[in-house]
This record gives sequence, structure tokens and C-alpha cells, in this order.
Amino acid sequence: MPKFRPAFALAALVAVFAAPAAAQEQVLNLYSARHYATDEALYAGFTRATGIKVNRIEAGEAQLLERLKAEGAQSPADVLLIVDASRLYNAQQLGLFQPVKSAVLDSRLPPSMRGTNDEWFGFSSRARIIVYNKAMVNPTDVATYASLADPKNKGKICVRSGSHPYNLSLVAAMVAHMGEAKAEEWARGVVANFARAPKGGDTDQIKGAAAGECGIAVVNSYYYARILRSTKPEDREIVAKTSFVWPDQAGHGTHVNVAGAGVLKHAPHRENAVKFLEYLASDDAQRYFADGNNEWPTVKSVKVSNPALDAMGPFKSDDLSIATVAKNIPAAQKIVDRADWR
Ligand code: FE
Repeated sequence: MPKFRPAFALAALVAVFAAPAAAQEQVLNLYSARHYATDEALYAGFTRATGIKVNRIEAGEAQLLERLKAEGAQSPADVLLIVDASRLYNAQQLGLFQPVKSAVLDSRLPPSMRGTNDEWFGFSSRARIIVYNKAMVNPTDVATYASLADPKNKGKICVRSGSHPYNLSLVAAMVAHMGEAKAEEWARGVVANFARAPKGGDTDQIKGAAAGECGIAVVNSYYYARILRSTKPEDREIVAKTSFVWPDQAGHGTHVNVAGAGVLKHAPHRENAVKFLEYLASDDAQRYFADGNNEWPTVKSVKVSNPALDAMGPFKSDDLSIATVAKNIPAAQKIVDRADWR
């Protein structure tokens, strides 16, 4: 059954959002593509600190964007919360956000975690890592993203579609570092090394590596962390058969991306929306927000104690800004199309 049915959802939305004006209740209307066990504590913390109630509409990114486009200036939504710089960029290109000038966000978030024109901000970070089958692959053969295109890894790579936001952002980072021509050459090399045609999500690629269908899987860190934390026998078996590397530790560092949010252009409760973004940058919210999906806080001073992330250890992350990644998304899309990374 689909998670989200527009007709019913719209009726529910009117019911949820129509009442507060008369009651003079302070509200924030949030459209979110994230939902984790720690969300209740996250939103309750905001309400406790500000007295502002959070109304949530949760759906997939594509559905939220369609909905915002359809609602236009009539939209009740104040904040859009989605994942990956490429999707945040996409929302920005659709003209959905408005700029936010906030001394709190400026002081809490590093410049690399702020999107283009202060229209969106990264509140948790994740890394694009290389998982490998220990019996099939030597970690020194997959120490860099460049190695994914090396003929020595022919027939070994499992990765989802190049048009998926996670891969578009990785290719965009490659464009930023090596230019379009070299990045395209790299993408063609990766495609030439495929073990199979791209299918499934990141967890499916990890399973493929554990099963020996491929030696190498390219995935977001939290998918591997989730398996590391799992007590299910099938997950323990995946952990036994695989390991991972933080790519490019001797070079630019491992590519990191974000879950992020922006204030919507037609936000009826703009002030509340800015307060909400500022709250997301607070110590407590950073912990809930990052830990809920085994990610890292983007506010540097905030530390999480997460057994899987602790076990994965520290790493050097690429300090390329998410705005620079976003800027190179159109070039990345052209590259994956030309390289036939379907
Ligand atoms: Fe994901």
C-alpha cells in the first residue's frame, strides 16, 4: 500500500492546519521525508523550548515536491526537510525556498554545511563509503573513488543507478575535484566494472557484496552502520563477510552529504520556521537528528555516542561545501547519462 495518498492526505491536511488560526495557537507546518524513532523526542523538544506545535506531513521526497508545486502560494508548509544536496538543490531550482539570515545558523553550522544563497542548510551528515567482500577484495584495491574505475576491479562493482541523488552528488564532487572530462572518464570506468546492472537501494548492494555477487558496493555510511548495530543473524553474517573503507583518506577525503532543510517561500509561519531551523542546530536536536539515522551532527562541537559509528572510527571527510556539490549536479546528471550509468 502506498504510504501517501494525495486525496486523503489533503483532507487530513485541511483538518490539521485549518484549526490553529482561530485558537491563536503557535504552529509550524513541516513537510518531512525523514522519520525515525527519535523524531518524537526531537519535535517535543522544539515545542517545549518555544511553545510552537509541530504539524508533520511525512512522505517521500518526490511526493512532497509534487505537492508543494501543486499547492504553490497557497501551501500551508513552512519547512521542507529532505536528504541529499542534489535533492535540496532540486527543490531550490523549483523556487521552493526563501533565503534565511540567521546569526544562530551562521555561528553553529560550518560554511561547508550551508546551501546556496542561505536557502537550505545541512543538519546531519553521512559519508559515501566503499564496502567490500573480504574474501574477494583487498582493501588497498578500493582505497579511493578513482579505484572504482580501475580495470583491476572489473566485474566487481555493485551500485545503484547513477541518477540516484546519492550517486549524482558523488559524481558532482568528482566534477568539482577533477573537472567534467575526467569525471566522465571515471564514470565510464565505473560502469565498465559493474558486476550487474544497477538495481535496488544501498542495502541491496551491501547484501550483494556479502553474497559474493559483487566484491565491492558503494553505499551511504548509515546503511552499513545499521547492519553493524543489528543483532539479526542474517546481518551478523553480512558483517562477518564484509568490511569497508573510508575512500580517499590520502587525498580529498571521503565524500559527505547531508540531510537538510529550508524555509519555504510561502511559509505562513516564517518566524516559527526560522526558529525551527535554529532549533535543529541546537545540541539536543543535533544529537536526536543525527543519531536517529546513524549520522553525524553537522555542528562540530556536538558529539554523539553511537556504537556503530564509534566502531567505524574517525575519518577525514572531504571539506567540499554542499553548495559546491549542488552547483555541479547538472553536470553530474549529463555525465551519468552519457556514461550509461542507468
Ligand atoms: Fe538513504
